[in-house]
Amino acid sequence: MTVQSRQQTDSAQSVNSIKAPCCPNCGSSSSRQIYSVDGIPAHSVLLMPDQTTATQYPRGDMRLSFCEQCGFLSNSAFNVKLNEYNPDYEETQHFSARFNEFADELVADLVNRFGIRNKRVLEIGCGKAEFLWRLCEAGNNEGIGVDPSVRPERLSTESRQKLQLIPELYSEEHAQLQADVILCRHTLEHIQPTREFLDIIRRSIGDRSNVQVCFELPDVRIVLEETRFWDVYYEHCSYFSAGSLARLFRAASFEIVDLWRDYDDQYLLLMARPVPQPTVASLEIEDDLSELSALAAAFEVNSQTQITHWRDTIRQFHHEGRQPVLWGAGSKCVAFLTTAGLEHEVEVVVDINPHKQGKFLPATGHPVISPAQLKEYAPGVVVVMNSIYLNEVQQQLDQLGISAELIGT
Ligand SMILES: [Zn+2]
Repeated sequence: MTVQSRQQTDSAQSVNSIKAPCCPNCGSSSSRQIYSVDGIPAHSVLLMPDQTTATQYPRGDMRLSFCEQCGFLSNSAFNVKLNEYNPDYEETQHFSARFNEFADELVADLVNRFGIRNKRVLEIGCGKAEFLWRLCEAGNNEGIGVDPSVRPERLSTESRQKLQLIPELYSEEHAQLQADVILCRHTLEHIQPTREFLDIIRRSIGDRSNVQVCFELPDVRIVLEETRFWDVYYEHCSYFSAGSLARLFRAASFEIVDLWRDYDDQYLLLMARPVPQPTVASLEIEDDLSELSALAAAFEVNSQTQITHWRDTIRQFHHEGRQPVLWGAGSKCVAFLTTAGLEHEVEVVVDINPHKQGKFLPATGHPVISPAQLKEYAPGVVVVMNSIYLNEVQQQLDQLGISAELIGT
């Protein structure tokens, strides 16, 4: 049985309900709803083979709740039964040079600063295992990857032989996979029973106090600060700040070795080690509860204005005949289109990942095309779904001879 399926939440809350269920992070009942969207696709990066399948893809509701006690945000209407993680789940970002640059820097940091070399590394939610393989190569480490969406055939023969890949959702049953390092990148935000998940990991470590635990996930602070409604979507049922992440780890008997931000403050990184008892806050970055409460209140007030702004902007481009396209057929793109209610105003979306091209976005059914196909389309405006890629996209447009206006979200 998986972590998710053990603690299913199937709450059909009304839009106006103020009270949310207990916080999955700290157990308190002081959560309040700050944002809601109805009928959003249950998955955003599952490839759809045709437009009909895409538009009929199952949907769920978003009821984003903020816990006043620990600062954690979660979708209190999340229904794990809608989860469908399989090899068609196309989450990889490793086709981007900018992303690979970040991945290489992080690998170097893990090997050099944290001494992850000649170690046995278990990665929970390894995706297509590109990062795990880089870490194994750079530090002469041995790697075990657990993920239902793993695609061994995409790896080199050498990495396929050296990595142990398990195509399953991590659960208590994997506790026997003992390792020196437990890595978990961009996975915790997909898990609703966060404390239960962390307890499983902590139990699997037992009294082996030398185990290093490294997590990476999106930081909700910038999402709230910049009212990025496109960063709130069904796949992500859990949203962390530095403080709420640290509080979860400390309560589950971990000491925080380091906690920092990277990738233009979009990602949180945490290095922890197991200890016998819960620990107390000691880092400045953890002290964010009052700031977060204010940011959550601001998001509640500003989100509708932001949605309207982007809807009007894209519609205006369309009315002017400028054929706006979105660049980056990932979760942000799906959330941007579905939450803003944009359909025909955008005809196509572009992605550099060849495994996405020729497929369709869930819910809206927008076709995903390659940058080369975009040249024929000749757009007047290209909206980049993550501004960190603006330079990279501009270079590709220049190479293709596309003179569209480039704007970031
Ligand atoms: Zn809480």
